[in-house]
Amino acid sequence: MSFQSLNICEPILKALEEEGYTTPTPIQAQSIPIVLKGIDLLGCAQTGTGKTAAFAIPIIQLLHENKTYDKKRKIRSLIVTPTRELAIQINESFKAYGKYTGLKSTVIFGGVNQNPQVDTIRNGVDILIATPGRLLDLMNQGFISLRDVEFFVLDEADRMLDMGFIHDVKKLLAALPKKRQSLFFSATMPPEIIKLASSILDNPSQVSVTPVSSTVDIIQQHVYFVDKGNKNALLVEVLKDKNIKIALVFTRTKHGADKVVKTLINHNITAEAIHGNKTQNARQRALTNFKAQTTRVLVATDIAARGIDIDELEHVINYELTNIPETYVHRIGRTGRAGAKGTAFSFCDAEEKEYLRDIEKLIAKKIPVISEHPFPLMDHNPVKEVKQQGRGGNRNTPRPKPTGNNNKAGNNPPSRFGKSKN
Ligand code: AMP
Repeated sequence: MSFQSLNICEPILKALEEEGYTTPTPIQAQSIPIVLKGIDLLGCAQTGTGKTAAFAIPIIQLLHENKTYDKKRKIRSLIVTPTRELAIQINESFKAYGKYTGLKSTVIFGGVNQNPQVDTIRNGVDILIATPGRLLDLMNQGFISLRDVEFFVLDEADRMLDMGFIHDVKKLLAALPKKRQSLFFSATMPPEIIKLASSILDNPSQVSVTPVSSTVDIIQQHVYFVDKGNKNALLVEVLKDKNIKIALVFTRTKHGADKVVKTLINHNITAEAIHGNKTQNARQRALTNFKAQTTRVLVATDIAARGIDIDELEHVINYELTNIPETYVHRIGRTGRAGAKGTAFSFCDAEEKEYLRDIEKLIAKKIPVISEHPFPLMDHNPVKEVKQQGRGGNRNTPRPKPTGNNNKAGNNPPSRFGKSKN
């Protein structure tokens, strides 16, 4: 399958070739023909599958076929996405794929001065990419009208609801023209998402690619059991590997992210943090430095890292495990982009062992353990005690405290693990 066979027009084909795209990804192969036919789309796909191009390419083509920009440009396509980072990346994609079409796009998001955004919109744009808060704000001030929108995309709908944007989304919907084509993307499809989708879409076609648990198959995953207090030392140890050109490190908290950055800098490893307490400019700067590989380690919290899209990123390190298994999948999905290689290391302390169990349940596989390292989890609980209590006993029996290295004893049978070959 080629992009030509999807009837993509020449100016877009040329741009795709320059991007190095030769073959459509599965979500693109399925979605592009549907969107080009003018049909609404319900897409179940997460970032990393190529979903941005799956909606951007046909929208650019449809806008280009019905040019109106010899007159004053109007916002004919609106893409709403939950985070600033995603919004910026989507705009970059529109600019890249549409560079030979003459279409204009821009991006707006909160946390920065609105004036440059307002000026750009005043000058006329065909495509607007926005986060919900700033969009509503500029609409309320009368700087933006949605009355000419022909194509509406709601991106990462599940994350949008998680982040509490449901009311903003409903207000936006009320301001959109009834006659429009709508595309709706979500990584997961719980009932509230289906309900929201049905309030937006008209007789949609559905496409679905790689459910959340299987997209991780191409990523090599490993876990280190380590005491909480030794995680910094282990991180420095792991980063001694010069094959790790750049690494994205996840922490649970903003404060934790800052602390990890300090440690790394003390060990002469260039590192920056990206989280909600940083200004938009600082976040963008950190991201740019990381992409340019002048910063080797970017330490991020989950929300801030959502949608970070760096093709060269091969290593993700979970400094702390998350208690939400889907978040683990999203985190490691920052690497292995569009089929490239990826490695994810997770540092698991005693308290996080149950998170690991939940993650392994979701991805339906055991993550290989790297047992040979200088900071193994200390065995706080004598093996004898574990034996006395037995396994699978009565639920009121206190759970044995986590033991040391899972290869030796503990709640996981040794045969499932073993030293990772890496
Ligand atoms: P997305 O899921 O939209 O975040 O895209 C994930 C990554 O895949 C981005 O870095 C895109 O540049 C890249 N990508 C998207 N479509 C293709 C394609 N057909 N061929 C190669 N890379 C692609």
